[in-house]
Amino acid sequence: MKHISFTLIILSLLISSCSLPTAVAEENAEELPPLYLGFSIHLEGWKVGNEKLGYDQDLYERYSDLILGYSNLANSYAMPFTWETANLIAPSANFEPNILLQLYQRGDGIGVHADLGGKSNAPGGQKKFTRDMKKMRLDMEAMGIPISHVSGICSTMDWVTAALDAGYEATTGTVEYCLKSLPLDEQSAAIRACESPATCHDAFPGEIPDLLHPYRAADGSTWTTPANEGLILFHAAGDIPCTATGCDIQMIEEALAAREPGIFHSLFFIHSFGSPMDEEILRTFYESIQPYIESGDIVWQTMPQLLETYKAVE
Ligand SMILES: [Zn+2]
Repeated sequence: MKHISFTLIILSLLISSCSLPTAVAEENAEELPPLYLGFSIHLEGWKVGNEKLGYDQDLYERYSDLILGYSNLANSYAMPFTWETANLIAPSANFEPNILLQLYQRGDGIGVHADLGGKSNAPGGQKKFTRDMKKMRLDMEAMGIPISHVSGICSTMDWVTAALDAGYEATTGTVEYCLKSLPLDEQSAAIRACESPATCHDAFPGEIPDLLHPYRAADGSTWTTPANEGLILFHAAGDIPCTATGCDIQMIEEALAAREPGIFHSLFFIHSFGSPMDEEILRTFYESIQPYIESGDIVWQTMPQLLETYKAVE
């Protein structure tokens, strides 16, 4: 008996001395904020028609079916997409059922992908840039879809002020072309030489950890410096990091490892559809990050959700 209790004491000493560092490590891990993760799809590249020539209902329905298929897949993992578009607004208002309204009503995120401002010296300048961007928001809202964010607005003009004046709170997917609005002497030779958003299209800031930190920008000439008030910039993480043979979640793991206590971290993937996505690749992506969602290290968000989360803590 005496011998047994002695063994127990030794055992419990061993256990407590072993478990002490683990407990400290777990406590530290709990202090790390989650990484907010999401996925935007730019709905563009399908010629569904225009106001003058009318809209192609057959094409609209085929496009809608594909979109709903992706949405169903994402929602089966409780990881809804954010859909951003300009050229699907009018056809959606024109035909039943309204695909954008359907997506909004099921809880997917909706934003405007303006594709505006990319032509330097375009007629109308800043005024027309602002007016066209505002019209897209108002057209969406006329369908019953509230809009808070816009993408595809990088310009030599003041795109930050244009977005604010057009009634947006945030923009997503800042790329190197956005640097064209800085004073010329602050632009690198490569940026000065860049003539269209399609050429200098790499994400900016493109590296972790900068890429993980949203901030507010006061105007187009100072946007690389965070400000107290202004347009919220959410940066882009590039396309889905998966191939047909697997999912390389190295970037997500790098982002998780770069988290710091008390700081907001978000990562948003972007795909242009346009080109279709492989459903197996999407499934692999969702399944690869499922364990991080279960552990609480990743919180999945749509862009409108992310905007509210950010505003609550900034
Ligand atoms: Zn685009």
